[in-house]
Amino acid sequence: MNVLLNNGHTMPMIGLGMYDMYGQEAERAIVRAIEIGYRLIDTASMYQNESELGNAWQRSGLKREDIFITTKVNNSDQGYDQTLKALEVSLAKLKTDYVDLYLLHWPLKLTRKQTWKAMEKIWKEGRAKSIGVANFLIPFLTEHYEYTEIIPAVNQVEFSPYLFLKDLLVHCQDKNIKMQAYSPLLRGLKLKDAKLVSIAAKYNRTTAQIKLRWCIQHGVCPIPKSVNPVRLLENFQVFDFQITEDDMRKLD
Ligand code: NDP
Repeated sequence: MNVLLNNGHTMPMIGLGMYDMYGQEAERAIVRAIEIGYRLIDTASMYQNESELGNAWQRSGLKREDIFITTKVNNSDQGYDQTLKALEVSLAKLKTDYVDLYLLHWPLKLTRKQTWKAMEKIWKEGRAKSIGVANFLIPFLTEHYEYTEIIPAVNQVEFSPYLFLKDLLVHCQDKNIKMQAYSPLLRGLKLKDAKLVSIAAKYNRTTAQIKLRWCIQHGVCPIPKSVNPVRLLENFQVFDFQITEDDMRKLD
């Protein structure tokens, strides 16, 4: 399932997060994820595993246009010239000449504007199909509109039933910015929370699946990380059931 971004491109609703996975384990996880049906893989220069993604998507046999690759400008690379150079390094590791989504990883006070200006150039040149931000709460977005006319396609933020950023979600919906949920499983915590367990039992689902489905029903795209083949499948099987309005409110 895909969602439409504000620039006309589409993005898969769910993706595989790559934080804290390395080497063969990461490559195996990506190849397995692609076999299951994941088409979006989320890495970052900061995670130091872009090469693993480059190797794995090539090994998978998929054509480049059939996979959605996200990476992010590292904080240490922020600034205009630095960002342009950082993208080149990322592209070489990812074994591609464009990314689908390039994100500004963190709104650093001194450098975020110049970083964004470089990202606009990258976008205009087609080396990123879409550009977006991460960790931008409302004040950062409000400031952003003052120095650019290009609205981010995506805002990637922590989002789960344990951190329901309702005001930010409404703001992003108004501005047609797609929200993407990082740490949607709360890094594996609270999976035995009694309230969550009782809701999950009603649907005969796992608590992880309830957390992900809750994001999806809010229109927020989750990117759960797993290197475990069983959990990779579990996290993808979230499109064949519906949480009721009443249970959504309880989870909120
Ligand atoms: P997640 O909420 O995705 O949780 C990942 C943890 O949960 C891992 O320990 C994983 O272990 C475990 N897990 C995965 N699936 C299940 C399951 N079904 N049942 C039980 N445990 C499970 O955390 P992340 O912080 O990794 O967030 C996801 C992605 O978001 C990151 O990988 C990264 O790509 C992105 N991110 C972006 C940030 C930003 O600043 N823009 C910040 C943080 C993350 P195992 O691998 O063993 O299954």
